[in-house]
Amino acid sequence: MFDILITNCCLISMNKGKEILDLCDIGIKDGIVTAIGKSLKGTTGKTIDGTDKYVLPGFVNCHTHVYQSLIEGVGYDMHFNPWNIRYLIPIISNMNPDHAGVSAQLAALEMIKSGTTSFSDHWYLHTDFDNIEAVTEAFDASGLRNHIVFGFLNESFAGRKNSSGSDGVLKEDNELLRRAEDFVRRRQGWNLTTTGLGPGSTEDVGTDLFKRIINLARNLDVTLVTHIAGWVEIVSRSLEKYKLRDLEYAHSLGFTGNKSIALHGVWLSDNEIQLAADTGTKIVHNPVANMHLGYGVASVTQMIKAGIKVGLGTDGAASYTYDMLEIGKTAAMLQKAVKMDAEALTAEEVLQMLTIDGAEVLGLESSTGSIEVGKQADIIIIETNSPQILRGGRPVPKIVYSAKGNDIVTSIVNGKIIMEDRIVLTMDEDEIIKRSNECRAELLEKGGDATAELLKAPWPEKGASWRNLDG
Ligand SMILES: [Zn+2]
Repeated sequence: MFDILITNCCLISMNKGKEILDLCDIGIKDGIVTAIGKSLKGTTGKTIDGTDKYVLPGFVNCHTHVYQSLIEGVGYDMHFNPWNIRYLIPIISNMNPDHAGVSAQLAALEMIKSGTTSFSDHWYLHTDFDNIEAVTEAFDASGLRNHIVFGFLNESFAGRKNSSGSDGVLKEDNELLRRAEDFVRRRQGWNLTTTGLGPGSTEDVGTDLFKRIINLARNLDVTLVTHIAGWVEIVSRSLEKYKLRDLEYAHSLGFTGNKSIALHGVWLSDNEIQLAADTGTKIVHNPVANMHLGYGVASVTQMIKAGIKVGLGTDGAASYTYDMLEIGKTAAMLQKAVKMDAEALTAEEVLQMLTIDGAEVLGLESSTGSIEVGKQADIIIIETNSPQILRGGRPVPKIVYSAKGNDIVTSIVNGKIIMEDRIVLTMDEDEIIKRSNECRAELLEKGGDATAELLKAPWPEKGASWRNLDG
């Protein structure tokens, strides 16, 4: 009567009562958790011995740009704008559907191998409108639960005004809207894929297009996702142009609401935090990317206290990882340090953000984020017989502070085992590594003079000219 039975495990359920059950069995049938209890009886297709293992909901990565998985190592230790202008745009302007699909496979592989079962990707690279199709198909084949945000850029790219035809990244309003609607409508009713609409940021689309995107998202009843107040410069420019801060401006157009997701929110004022709370707007915190790019420190403690649902994300290559345990631990340590308060963000709060709160941010809380009878089975299993997470003491701090992505041994999404004993079952790992190397080499070779110069550079000294805009 079960397809899969996990026996004798320590279950960290993340249900409403936040129950932790020891020596517990979990029965799965037709993709759904159908029973939780001690010594469950019944026939089973597959039994997984959970002895000495933690079993918990898979992690939710609320914000990625997976195309950047192919360009890590080019542009680093620098702000987003010089990275963007010197390296990102020249390299990605050559991205085709083949590269796009491979970038998604590479990212999916790393996500599966570090315990992520659901994620959201913001795909705005319409150098070819088939890119986003290739990405979505790759993710569906990987078995991961994916939320794909159709991105929009029509004016600039993160503050870069571009008069030379945008290198293929900026597109015309009507075509973007038509393609986006078509993309969303074709994915309605898909099993693992949900969709959203995502202006790049308030300075990547003009006011008119922003309003039209908001209307379309409301009509299609999908999420609305954009980068808000991530870097201080965008707030200055918004004040100069609209006499409003970044979220205030987006709110004035109708952006805020309980299906709206503001990415970063590093430079939100107290009033804007209250505005997000009052309107039910969600926030995604990307601590490693924010730190790497020198953006600053988001007031996560204050956001949670105000009642905002906050999820965690890696963002793009700036975090140099898809390991959500690394992101979660960093989030906790950063808040504790800047607030000089060891309770500023606790292990329990981080595990909530990694699971059920992240699911709620993406609107997936009815299917994932906790292990409960009736919910879809999105489950990861952590081996505890290892030096760093030997059992004893409370499990949550051991998971959040000691475990690493590669301590996750088995991963189940929608009742299907996608990794067992560290072997990914839905993808050919060797083939993906091979294709990723080929695609990365192709893109870097055509990446322009700055990329060629960087790759040839000897040991770069601090302040090397390629790290800043003016050098
Ligand atoms: Zn981002």
